[in-house]
Amino acid sequence: MEVRVSDVKKWAGREETVRLVEAWPKPARDRVDFPLVDPGLIDVVVRNAGGGTFLVNVRGTVKAQVLCSRCAEPFDREMPFEATEEFREEALPNDPSLEYSRFTGDVIVLDELVSDAVGLSFPISVRCRPDCQGLCPQCGTNWNQESCSCMVLKDERWDQLGRLLSDNPLELEREKNGRS
Ligand SMILES: [Zn+2]
Ligand SMILES: [Zn+2]
Repeated sequence: MEVRVSDVKKWAGREETVRLVEAWPKPARDRVDFPLVDPGLIDVVVRNAGGGTFLVNVRGTVKAQVLCSRCAEPFDREMPFEATEEFREEALPNDPSLEYSRFTGDVIVLDELVSDAVGLSFPISVRCRPDCQGLCPQCGTNWNQESCSCMVLKDERWDQLGRLLSDNPLELEREKNGRS
């Protein structure tokens, strides 16, 4: 995944927008626990900031086949991502202690930039829907689809737990985050 900068290099202030439609790079796949759906669609803006410095902005939407953290049903989830990075034309290897990346020639490779942004876009746990009922801890029945004879237990104990949770703003906050 890369962008050509031969034109943008011609003068400071020049800006170019490119849309990439490509398979996700391997580092992006490694950073997300779920299979990513190809192709990725990424809008890239490169701006020549002068003095061999280029600002690269990537934004897009990543789609993955995720598993609901409550009921384990697979479903597709789309997450937006965006990131900006400064690249300087310097004939040296990249140095992680610097706040910019290096490149040489007419091509800037975007694999790391895109993969970091994609990796950060996914929450650790996802739900198929905000009110997912989950699985019965006793018989494994998917409560979104049917009830089971263990339901009596569920009703009493989970209602109590629900009341406790709603009294605790921290837990509520956590619930909300789990859904996003
Ligand atoms: Zn679910
Ligand atoms: Zn059950």
